[in-house]
Amino acid sequence: MTVTETASDDERALLADRLAAVRGRVAAACDAAGRDPRSVRVLLATKTVDAARVRAALTADAAAVEADPSLAPVLIGENRVQELVAKGPELTDLAPVTHLIGPLQSNKVNAALRWVSCVESVESVALARRLSERCADRTVPLDVLVQVNVSGEPTKHGVALGDAAALSVAVAALPGLRLAGFMTVGLRSPDPAAVGAGYASLAALRDDVVTSGEPGTSDARELSMGMSGDLEVAVRHGATLVRVGSAVFGARPPL
Ligand SMILES: *Cc1c(COP(=O)(O)O)cnc(C)c1O
Repeated sequence: MTVTETASDDERALLADRLAAVRGRVAAACDAAGRDPRSVRVLLATKTVDAARVRAALTADAAAVEADPSLAPVLIGENRVQELVAKGPELTDLAPVTHLIGPLQSNKVNAALRWVSCVESVESVALARRLSERCADRTVPLDVLVQVNVSGEPTKHGVALGDAAALSVAVAALPGLRLAGFMTVGLRSPDPAAVGAGYASLAALRDDVVTSGEPGTSDARELSMGMSGDLEVAVRHGATLVRVGSAVFGARPPL
């Protein structure tokens, strides 16, 4: 990955087409669910994608937004702090809104915070406290989402559903942080009903927390759920942020 590397025109056109297809899927899913398409934003999951291709996707997106100002610009989501730090400096001129969507070790908090406006992967009070300490003197708090393991699969990150409300209330009370909502990686299954049950449980959790009356919980409306394979199911259940990687960038090598 170098600063001089650029994507070809063909590559840019391909990314533009795939991005348009994803936006079309989101719009159709919103339509089917009776939702305003502007209520769902698209986050590009850019793990393993080099900065030149991320730049090409962001440039294609900017052109689409210019052509149709009703569209909201895409966001960027990185899983690994190492990739954030490597690509961040190459994209600063485009100023993408960037979220961390992967696990965060406490020794990498400072490096991550330089590049992200939201940490979607808060799964413990220890991590939330560490973030809070680093953000306590900010004028604008750091947005955080509580990541929930709705499927209960042991390989998945996120707090267990049964512990999620208590964690959310604890996070919401910490200085320097704004609890903005919830994130999950859905069940990997060809059965949309099974996948949807997990997403419905995240939406129900969100409703419980937002109406709890606990300090700092009233902004927690975001539902980051749905990926390339199941974004329609997620939108049906109230997703406000879908995280899309392979549908735009193609298949990737395993992490
Ligand atoms: C990779 C990844 C995505 C996107 O997955 P695709 O199936 O490629 O769309 C979304 N969320 C997280 C947390 C990811 O790691």
